[in-house]
Amino acid sequence: VRRSRLDGGPKGLAVSFEFFPPKTEAMEETLWRSIERLAPLSPAFVSVTYGAGGTTRERTHQTVARILRETALAPAAHLTCVAATRAEIDSVVDSYAEVGVRHVVALRGDPVTGLGTRFEPHPEGYDSAAALVAAIKRRHPAMEVSVSAYPERHPESADWTIELDNLKRKVDAGADRAITQFFFDNDLFLRFLDRVDAAGIALPIVPGVVPVQNFSQTARFAEKAGASMPRWLADRFEGLEEDAATRQLVAAAVCAEQVLDLVDRGAREFHFYTMNRADLVYAVCHLLGMRPGGKPQGVEAAA
Ligand code: FAD
Repeated sequence: VRRSRLDGGPKGLAVSFEFFPPKTEAMEETLWRSIERLAPLSPAFVSVTYGAGGTTRERTHQTVARILRETALAPAAHLTCVAATRAEIDSVVDSYAEVGVRHVVALRGDPVTGLGTRFEPHPEGYDSAAALVAAIKRRHPAMEVSVSAYPERHPESADWTIELDNLKRKVDAGADRAITQFFFDNDLFLRFLDRVDAAGIALPIVPGVVPVQNFSQTARFAEKAGASMPRWLADRFEGLEEDAATRQLVAAAVCAEQVLDLVDRGAREFHFYTMNRADLVYAVCHLLGMRPGGKPQGVEAAA
């Protein structure tokens, strides 16, 4: 692993971790083992995704509530506009506020009719992420709201003007930060920051980093999300289909290289798409200089 300016210590760095709500008891155990392992690294927040079409509404809520109950972590609940009325969405946000959730990741979501089709808002629903952000801020002004950003453009954006106008609408509606879709080519991210700056948009933009736990699964996600998979990345995993141990080492090296290069180029915050698994993320955070300890972010009660 290359050295980076970080060798002076992790000063000023912040990380956050994204999880998805578990479907089965076994998945729930995996998730909680991961949370227990990552919690001592004192992430700025941990976020829990919301299934396409609102299919995980209950499970997202339960997972977020359990994090609040059993850990000292700050949970952020993802929420989309899909297939729900404004009243339904408002009541989800109200119920988060009631139990003490202070952060929502507000998204439009994907069309229920499938990717590649046009997003049709629910007739009584919010029609965009910006409308959702505005509604959350109106009802709960102190609620922190993160939104998405796309260094390679959202697949629906015909051009950068549309993409940046959309981001600007979310900022104008009150978004506090954007978290990016994952990417592997850091130049794309830096170019995106330049575009955002040039458009006069002032918003902290946190790079979303995905450790490649499983190359073909990551490639499938990337295709759906409109994120490019560079040839060199495929080359690095080539021939390792049956060799999980080497795959894991290569994945850690690839992710460390990406993150340390971003640090050298000025990034100070990272959002990790954990896929509910801790090992790779823990190793990369260790390379970032993060160590368990400091203010306890304990999950003692969760065991
Ligand atoms: P938006 O920012 O609202 O817009 C997406 C695109 O739509 C824009 O780039 C633009 O091209 C177009 N657009 C929007 N409004 C207009 C307009 N008025 N005129 C022209 N074009 C317009 N999905 C889930 O289902 N659950 C999750 O928990 C979840 N979490 C995510 C977390 C992050 C950090 C990211 C990056 C994505 C996440 N997604 C999640 C995926 C997301 O729901 C999809 O990418 C979805 O297609 C877009 O939602 P958005 O909020 O990113 O879209």
